[in-house]
Amino acid sequence: MLASSSAGNSTFIGTEKTRILIDAGLNRKETFQRLAAIGEDPSKLDAIFITHEHSDHVCGLPVICRTLGNRVPVFMTDLTAPALDWGGRPVPPIEIFQAGALTELGDLAVQSFTIPHDTVDPVGYTVTAQGIKVSIATDLGYLPENVKFNLRDSHFLLLESNHHPDLLKVGPYPWHIKQRILSRKGHLSNDAACDYIASELPSEVQMLILGHLSEQNNTIWDTELGAVQALEKRGLAPRLVVAEPRRQGEIFLL
Ligand SMILES: [Zn+2]
Ligand SMILES: [Zn+2]
Repeated sequence: MLASSSAGNSTFIGTEKTRILIDAGLNRKETFQRLAAIGEDPSKLDAIFITHEHSDHVCGLPVICRTLGNRVPVFMTDLTAPALDWGGRPVPPIEIFQAGALTELGDLAVQSFTIPHDTVDPVGYTVTAQGIKVSIATDLGYLPENVKFNLRDSHFLLLESNHHPDLLKVGPYPWHIKQRILSRKGHLSNDAACDYIASELPSEVQMLILGHLSEQNNTIWDTELGAVQALEKRGLAPRLVVAEPRRQGEIFLL
């Protein structure tokens, strides 16, 4: 994970053959530096997949694409595409699909699924290659059945654990923003993430990453403590990592 927080989201997933970014919510300089730090050349990207049009997921996209000569195709849903602002400049090849579609790209199978969030057509993704399934489920107000269904059999799961509800309630945000975050189209709380972990986390999960933390309304300590207790309840012991806002994650080899 190049970054995972309310301040910016971008995840690199690669095999020997195929390399993709999911979201481009860091600027070009940060994105290229963080790719270089994991030994990846941005010009070798095969595609960029977009989850939704919020700026913490797309703010770096236009400049990244232009710097790469607009050669790297960008995949997004048919309804998300018109919502992106390219500033009137030339755009890269846009590959549209309907939410729920499966895209085969090199040796990756990228499955999209609808998530409940306040944008036109937001999706999460699972990426399967060589029998390993990687799932990304952030930016969702709650975990509906279709999301849980898509997360089944995951070996690696990046799950949102956005805020501690008590910290959010007493925190600095205006009331309408607090309501938005707490709504069913907002962000997943630590409690909601822990409920899922304690009851339905797939037993195949070997690495559980809690991400998209709010810097104002959460702490790593609270997130981790709740998740450890939830895993104990579930009787599972995957590797647990809480993504630190603004810091690049380690490389996970699967
Ligand atoms: Zn969002
Ligand atoms: Zn976000």
